[in-house]
Amino acid sequence: MKKAVAYLEPFMEQEKRDAGIENDDARGTFLIATVKGDVHDIGKNIVGVVLQCNNYKVIDLGVMVSSETILEEAEKHKVDMIGLSGLITPSLDEMVHVAREMKRKRMTIPLLIGGATTSAKHTAVRIAPVYDGPIIHVLDASRSVNVVEKLISKEHRDAFIADNVEVQKKLVASFQERKQKLVPYGEALEKRFATDWRTVQIDKPSFTGVRVLEDFPISEIRPYIDWSPFFMTWELKGKYPKIFDDAKVGPHAKELYDDANALLDEVIAARSLKANAAYGFWPAASDGDDVILFTDESRSSELTRFHFLRQQWERQGQKDYRSLADYIAPIDSGREDYIGGFVVTGGLGAETLALQYKTALDDYKALMVSAVADRLAEAFAELLHQKARQEWGFGKTESLSTEDLIEEKYRGIRPAAGYPACPDHTEKRTLFDLLEAEISTGVRLTESFAMTPAASVSGLYFAHPEARYFTVDRMLKDQVRDYARRKGMPLAEFERWLSPNLAYEPS
Ligand code: SAH
Repeated sequence: MKKAVAYLEPFMEQEKRDAGIENDDARGTFLIATVKGDVHDIGKNIVGVVLQCNNYKVIDLGVMVSSETILEEAEKHKVDMIGLSGLITPSLDEMVHVAREMKRKRMTIPLLIGGATTSAKHTAVRIAPVYDGPIIHVLDASRSVNVVEKLISKEHRDAFIADNVEVQKKLVASFQERKQKLVPYGEALEKRFATDWRTVQIDKPSFTGVRVLEDFPISEIRPYIDWSPFFMTWELKGKYPKIFDDAKVGPHAKELYDDANALLDEVIAARSLKANAAYGFWPAASDGDDVILFTDESRSSELTRFHFLRQQWERQGQKDYRSLADYIAPIDSGREDYIGGFVVTGGLGAETLALQYKTALDDYKALMVSAVADRLAEAFAELLHQKARQEWGFGKTESLSTEDLIEEKYRGIRPAAGYPACPDHTEKRTLFDLLEAEISTGVRLTESFAMTPAASVSGLYFAHPEARYFTVDRMLKDQVRDYARRKGMPLAEFERWLSPNLAYEPS
């Protein structure tokens, strides 16, 4: 653990480090897990290492862990607290489920909630009410030690829990008082983002159907890496490369950056990480908030369709209520439009490599493998999007630096299912089937539609010159009912998948 300790020094308490307490005098036992259906674990692993460095015993159950396993292991090891992690929105519901199960088992130990989609508000409004023990949202790994210290301390525990309850009460009150005005779905549809379909530029891709890139050279992907999120992973705030000049975090950032690059040299030489992609273009037309994909240019037979959701919330200065379907020419427009889609991974082999380092007690390098694989996946998505724009024609004249690409100074977007413009994760199933991506890329979908390996990215390509990312946010029942009908699935099922986006209490 030597290397980990060096990097994690800022997170550790001075006294303990000086005292050099051994792990035998563990100060408490902490169980951590990424919930069922989710595979994201860098944040959780950092928490694990940080707590171990602070002399807690950590039982890490890994990823995709069912509530049964979490509770069984918690009881078996008589743990002092449980920490749940998750990245994708369906995990929020799974966390509520775990909390409910804890109550059913009459447990009262603290439950800590963390991960990218979790929030103090969701924790207060949805999770805390279903459990009697303390439920604490932990913003990031570096704060976990402080929280755990307070919860373990006989002196501070009660006051800390009482404060937390107060804060959550206020969050619930502000949630109940929220005044977001929503318009009926019919009105939102009418006020869609408008395009003059007679004149708008539409280009024809150089091919339709699917192409696969197998074992794409990592050395070619490397220059496309956006390093700023890499530092965020390690909880260092700042933009690359300016971060190196920061008096406080600069030296740490430089060390992490150098180590990541040494690892990249290593994986390129040893070919220990593999990057695959599948992507394609299809003739397409919008039909309300659906986009129809056709089997061929005759546009006579439907291959499949994507279903989109539309904004219903009123904002100041806004003129329209957007859906991604607005960016594709309507079926009766007389224009021939296209849509694209992709799945990429930079993480094949990452799990094995990380395990090797873990077994060799180099936790730091194990974490670095996941962080670097994540970066490669995003960089590969950037590279492939550039290639797709060239193959679509309009990207041929583009001349953009890596910085320009990161700032999205190109035409078109690549929205990802589960993100704000298209919050339904289940649409990934359609995309993956269309690309036969599971076979060609090795990326699989879990029951919650998380991609595994975790270092994978997928999305759709839109070429509309005015395509922008937006946030669907909250929706009324009229739309959710229509959506469930379009998808041919029960309303209740979609109320579960879209639960963070509901502006009403499902019955
Ligand atoms: N350079 C960044 C790129 C990833 S984040 C990195 O290396 O991490 C940006 C991506 O998130 C977009 O390309 C898109 O796929 C997705 N995204 C962002 N905002 C979105 C939105 N509102 N709706 C759908 N997808 C979105």
